[in-house]
Amino acid sequence: MTFAPARVTLRRGDITTDDTADAIVNAANSSLLGGGGVDGAIHRAAGPDLLAECRLLGGCHTGDAKITGAGRLPVRHVIHTVGPVWRGGGHGEADLLASCYRRCVEVGDEAGCAVLAFPAISCGVYGYPLEEAAEVAVHALVEALERHPGVREARFWLFSEQAYAAFHRSLADAAATQ
Ligand code: ADP
Repeated sequence: MTFAPARVTLRRGDITTDDTADAIVNAANSSLLGGGGVDGAIHRAAGPDLLAECRLLGGCHTGDAKITGAGRLPVRHVIHTVGPVWRGGGHGEADLLASCYRRCVEVGDEAGCAVLAFPAISCGVYGYPLEEAAEVAVHALVEALERHPGVREARFWLFSEQAYAAFHRSLADAAATQ
């Protein structure tokens, strides 16, 4: 097994184009009934079967994750997680964001997923500042991967150049301090 920071990788672009992951993580809202941003893109690409499955889940708490099939997406599962809305940083946002990544790895590992694809959870309409989110995300994933050797790779899909740069910096820092 390679050491944990090396198992976190970065891609630029649209997460719905990933056809080699076992599961794609969705930055959903607590209803799990669809929304904008990456949630909208995932539901559009997956088709109505995904929404039908989500209706049966009864929502999801912030910081938790739930798994479904993936409809028409070329992966086996979608893992729906609900990130915190940024309210200035003093409302437990970092713990909740870390919990999202941790729960996704736990749920993915339980379902036998070796490769997980993540968006930058909470970094869109939920307003989490990129630099802070990247640090929390990379740190939480490195810790979770250490506990879950069955998850071989956690792959971020970053939509913008700024997001890619922020996550790249955090990953370089994590690798340097191991
Ligand atoms: P949240 O509500 O958790 O903030 P958003 O979907 O608004 O979720 O944004 C989360 C991140 O996903 C943002 O950085 C946004 O730019 C990015 N994003 C939006 N669409 C896609 C996509 N198709 N693939 C990958 N990332 C995406």
